[in-house]
Amino acid sequence: MDDIQRIDIAVVGAGLGGAAAAALLARAGFSVHSFEQAPEFTRLGAGIHIGPNVMKIFRHLGLEDRLAAIGSHPGHWFSRDGMTGEYLSEIPLGEFALKEYGAPYITIHRGDMHAVQIAALDASRVHFGHRLTGLEDRGTDVLLSFENGRQVAASLVIGADGINSMIRETLLGPEKPRYSGWVGHRALVDMEKLRGSGLAHERCVKWWWEKSRHIMAYATKNDGSEYYYVTGVPEASWDHAGSFAESSREEMEAAFGGSHSMVQALIDATGAVTKWPFWNRDPMGLWSRGRLVMIGDACHPMRPHMAQGACMAIEDAAILVRCLELTGMEDYATAFGLYERARKDRATKVQTISNANTWLKEPEDPAWVYAYDPFAVELA
Ligand SMILES: Cc1cc2nc3c(=O)[nH]c(=O)nc-3n(C[C@H](O)[C@H](O)[C@H](O)COP(=O)(O)OP(=O)(O)OC[C@H]3O[C@@H](n4cnc5c(N)ncnc54)[C@H](O)[C@@H]3O)c2cc1C
Repeated sequence: MDDIQRIDIAVVGAGLGGAAAAALLARAGFSVHSFEQAPEFTRLGAGIHIGPNVMKIFRHLGLEDRLAAIGSHPGHWFSRDGMTGEYLSEIPLGEFALKEYGAPYITIHRGDMHAVQIAALDASRVHFGHRLTGLEDRGTDVLLSFENGRQVAASLVIGADGINSMIRETLLGPEKPRYSGWVGHRALVDMEKLRGSGLAHERCVKWWWEKSRHIMAYATKNDGSEYYYVTGVPEASWDHAGSFAESSREEMEAAFGGSHSMVQALIDATGAVTKWPFWNRDPMGLWSRGRLVMIGDACHPMRPHMAQGACMAIEDAAILVRCLELTGMEDYATAFGLYERARKDRATKVQTISNANTWLKEPEDPAWVYAYDPFAVELA
């Protein structure tokens, strides 16, 4: 006997999409293990929007109330001119979202959300410190090899391993993601300084300048005590070694100085600020092969301008699990085909609009995104 552990389903990556997939699979009665390269959970990143389309999935998992209690509930998504402050659009959320789209719209610290997701999993089946380095589809199973020397044989493998997915590379060959020519600054602002401005900062507002430069600013806590922004600024190349670089208030000033007084207040309240490159890939022809299937950024990464990247990953997870429930694990080929058919058009549309950075800049009806119910979609 070798010492290779045999399991039913391996989810590679326990980020926002992978953690959702593992929870949904377990809830549906599948035997699942998660493998994550990070040594432990950390409260990483900053803000994230979660639309009603995905709050319905958290409802299914029994996590909706907890997340709704932590997150901020903006009454609107405002779009405003960065120079004059003029309102370009006022998209109702809050009570309207609850009534029209069937669940709340929240903005939240992604670390807080991820913590709730990880805590919902069986800790004995979440394997941190497991970086996947080898993958071999042996026909009857898939052999997974990890950097720490462990090997696991899984009947099915879900690649939730993000934009540099090894599952993607196995299916489609090595190809670096493309630098989009844009970076985003991210900062949690100094609340004392922000309050000191005496200005009433909206709970969710996107400031726009010419050529799509922007600052998306929003609260990440229910009581409004934490406020965050992420920008979009063109930068010709990305020459830094890591996945992000330190930035500064001076850089923010250089990019957005001389704008509306509320933007200036955001800049003045900036302490630590980092700068992240936005990476991209074209829509992919292949989402699965044999016993391997991908979800989220592994198969449709996008610039973050619709605030729906993680939402798409979590929707993918919900639909994939429904397909597996329908067919059973043995008929995974049918399940993967159903999944791809149910998801591809929607994910590609969101990817395209997100990359174009036009979402909600002007009045439009967002119902096709927010009213979507992953449990009502027909699988055919
Ligand atoms: C600035 C910014 C703002 C954003 N704002 C929003 C927003 O408001 N709303 C929204 O819905 N989306 C937003 N997004 C997009 C969102 O963050 C991503 O789409 C989402 O995180 C994708 O989830 P995922 O699970 O597919 O991948 P990830 O969250 O990237 O998770 C992948 C996981 O796999 C692990 N992993 C990778 N390789 C391996 C390996 N070889 N072995 C083991 N583990 C591995 C990683 O450590 C990671 O934990 C934003 C993105 C950015 C950059």
